[in-house]
Amino acid sequence: MTAPAERIVIENCAVATVDADDTEYPAGHLVVAGDRIESVGPGPAPAGLEGVVRRVDGTGHLLTPGLVNTHHHFYQWITRGLATDHNLFDWLVALYPTWARIDEAMTHAAAQGSLAMMARGGVTTAMDHHYVFPRGTGDLSGSIIRAAAGMGVRFTLARGSMDRGESDGGLPPDFAVETLDDALAATEETIDKHHDASFGAMTRIAVAPCSPFSVSTELLRQGAELARRKGVRLHTHGSETVEEEQFCRELFGMGPTDYFESTGWLGEDVWMAHCVHMADSDIAAFARTRTGVAHCPSSNARLAAGIARVPDMLAAGVPVGLGVDGTASNESGELHTELRNALLINRLGAHREAALTARQALRLGTYGGARVLGRAEEIGSLEAGKLADLVLWRMDTLAHASIADPVAALVLGAAAPVTLSLVNGRPVVEDGCLVTADEDAIARATRDEARRLARIAGLTG
Ligand SMILES: [Zn+2]
Repeated sequence: MTAPAERIVIENCAVATVDADDTEYPAGHLVVAGDRIESVGPGPAPAGLEGVVRRVDGTGHLLTPGLVNTHHHFYQWITRGLATDHNLFDWLVALYPTWARIDEAMTHAAAQGSLAMMARGGVTTAMDHHYVFPRGTGDLSGSIIRAAAGMGVRFTLARGSMDRGESDGGLPPDFAVETLDDALAATEETIDKHHDASFGAMTRIAVAPCSPFSVSTELLRQGAELARRKGVRLHTHGSETVEEEQFCRELFGMGPTDYFESTGWLGEDVWMAHCVHMADSDIAAFARTRTGVAHCPSSNARLAAGIARVPDMLAAGVPVGLGVDGTASNESGELHTELRNALLINRLGAHREAALTARQALRLGTYGGARVLGRAEEIGSLEAGKLADLVLWRMDTLAHASIADPVAALVLGAAAPVTLSLVNGRPVVEDGCLVTADEDAIARATRDEARRLARIAGLTG
């Protein structure tokens, strides 16, 4: 006989479930049983529950689904604050030579830094699009997956790649790219070794050639075939800047969306970062094929890329989640900031005040992200039967106490302290502190690895 599930009861808090009806309770409860949500509703938890190992008084708090990040490059944690006034292409050209010097120890420390920053800010599902694999530098993918497992967050590694160096008309220097065959073989090996397709999996792998200007058409085509043969998702950057649009028209005679479609890269198993420069026909193609979008407003602003048409995408039925993008173009690395900036930046676009609401912003950062990652049945909303990935935000301090609407406070206000976050029902943050990792030790390690990389890359003497 299996032991009865241990229960955690959270009550007396405001609850934003982000279910299909946006159900909210001004004072509600949630019961966790094992790794699942058992019940959620108004008022106190049902009386007489057995096996309760913990009871949390959520007075003055807001309970939401855990935040889901859909686009990131962990390794950039140790190259923040460089090329601060460049647009995308100039920024990439400035940084590629430094990035090409990363090794396993640097990658591991940077992954820990990125993960720690996100987790302490309420992220329960993370992803890393890693596409820099210098020769002979160890098991970079393994080091990233180890870091995520140690932090206790749910994780997708998008195994990236670049095979179009400068001599093939690409943007990265030749020494920073892999061969087509090496990239495909290493990606397949990573899937075989680490991908877990089961419900509630902590580690998933996606196939993720970097972008049209850094990979060959053949890598896109064969990458899509590999992903579908293995039953994993596909991820890349798309339609980020005007320069990318020009690059595609000059090299391929068509815009990015048509190019992606011609290589098998539109579909409900695909999600793309940015999608800033989208014509009506591009948005219609994404909606028709259910291709997902990782909206990264802070990075788009930092690199002067433009404003993605998120209200139009949502109206057309395109799945949209949020991403911090790499921290070399978004030094904060916090997803809370993206909730706020998604709302603010989209109100500077064509729809003005009719753009995103606070509740739509919260939905993008939770359920929207789950949908983009293909995990909407498992996570992204607080509903009985789903995995217990959730965040209890403190709303009774100076920063938020005078705001009556807790969702508005969370999205529009300062970053709220996290009193408790759970992944699979297990605590990751308690009273604002990581319980799965030593934040100060990670800060020291990332500082040391950033200095070592700067020295090796010749940025410092
Ligand atoms: Zn990116």
